[in-house]
Amino acid sequence: MFERSRRRLAYWFALSMGSILILFAFTVYHRQVKDQMREFDARIYDQAKRIAASTTYQKQGESWLIDTENVSLRDRNALESKIIYIRWYDFQQRLLQFTGYSPHQRSQVTPGWQTQKYDFHLKGQPLSKHLRRLTLPLKDDGSPVGYLQIAVSLGPLQTSLARSRLFLSLGIPIALTFTGVVGWILGHFAMQPAKRSYEQLQRFTADASHELRAPIAAILSNAQVGLLASEDDDQERDQRLSNIVIQSKSMSSLVANLLFLARHEGQLNPQDVANIDLVELLSSIAEGYIDSAIDKDLRFEVDLPASPVEVHSDRDLLQRAIGNLLDNAFKYTPNGGKITMRLEPKPRQVLIKIMDTGIGIPEVDLPHIFDRFYRVDKARTRETGGVGLGLAIARQIIKAHDGKITVVSEAEKGTTVQICLPLQPQ
Ligand code: ATP
Ligand code: MG
Repeated sequence: MFERSRRRLAYWFALSMGSILILFAFTVYHRQVKDQMREFDARIYDQAKRIAASTTYQKQGESWLIDTENVSLRDRNALESKIIYIRWYDFQQRLLQFTGYSPHQRSQVTPGWQTQKYDFHLKGQPLSKHLRRLTLPLKDDGSPVGYLQIAVSLGPLQTSLARSRLFLSLGIPIALTFTGVVGWILGHFAMQPAKRSYEQLQRFTADASHELRAPIAAILSNAQVGLLASEDDDQERDQRLSNIVIQSKSMSSLVANLLFLARHEGQLNPQDVANIDLVELLSSIAEGYIDSAIDKDLRFEVDLPASPVEVHSDRDLLQRAIGNLLDNAFKYTPNGGKITMRLEPKPRQVLIKIMDTGIGIPEVDLPHIFDRFYRVDKARTRETGGVGLGLAIARQIIKAHDGKITVVSEAEKGTTVQICLPLQPQ
């Protein structure tokens, strides 16, 4: 699935980049043709003006005498000897003189620019070339005296443009191949987050199904045994029913936790957010754990400042996150241990620390304990009833409050979980 998306991404990338590239190349080529043509024409025009200025006409009776003595040799051979011909006409369009290629027929004299194809023979071989021709009207004291015609081969210009075309026709496929390769590599990187989320989702679904399978199987077997029990055996039936209730409760709490994780991803609900006193919240949470501390013979110390510490937060969510951390501390600290809950206000933030002297978390497991369904010792946590969602929920809540949750732990020594919440600016 990802390979196909990657291929499609590379294909569209190459196609869009390729189209832009081709469009760009054609625009550049078009501009180059225009610029070179303008420059070419300007050179011919300069040349023609100079030749016109150095030509003199004299009328003798009905005919004209033309003197090209002053037309320099440089001009006659200029434009890199690509001048095909220079012709002088009188104002009745009769050819008076020429240099270069001789006219084999009377041609039309039209002032201005023309691009023409002309055919000639070189060493007996027929050839044809394109030429650019300029016809300038000549005037003497404002009255028309004739025309000067200069024709230059377009060969050098065509060669230069052919070179550009060759460069583009080789360059574009190379650039397209390169774009395709880049697209393919970029596709790999673009696919990574989607691939990771997909794998995460798959793992999550597999884990959730696996966790739900155990209570469902237990409910089913208890129901079947209950049905098979003899009608007089009320004790057996009660036992089975109470097992079903316990398993249903655990399933319901698992589903509730999963729903919670799915619903509370991201932002807090503004309606539920208010200024709350953390001292009051923590002492009310602590009260709920006094009985557990007595039952497990644990020393439970609560260290809170005397004055209120206000934070802008969702009270229920915060209570749930701290409750999950205290649950863990009580669950993973053997009898006779010590649990401390401390609130430390700082200038810009407030720290809530929950410390225990319990079984601790091995270093290799520390990077994963916030992952959904991650448990260090699956066999032991199954006994204590954990599914590995408590820390994931706590982290999600703290993140939604723009806070941070960190764990420091040493196996067999104890664990400290610290929540850091930003304080509202005064
Ligand atoms: P749940 O909280 O969903 O009932 P859980 O307690 O197993 O189940 P988490 O709270 O997410 O799940 O904790 C993940 C794992 O991290 C636990 O299974 C446990 O192995 C380890 N852990 C968490 N807190 C502590 C702690 N204070 N001491 C030792 N191990 C802990
Ligand atoms: Mg837990």
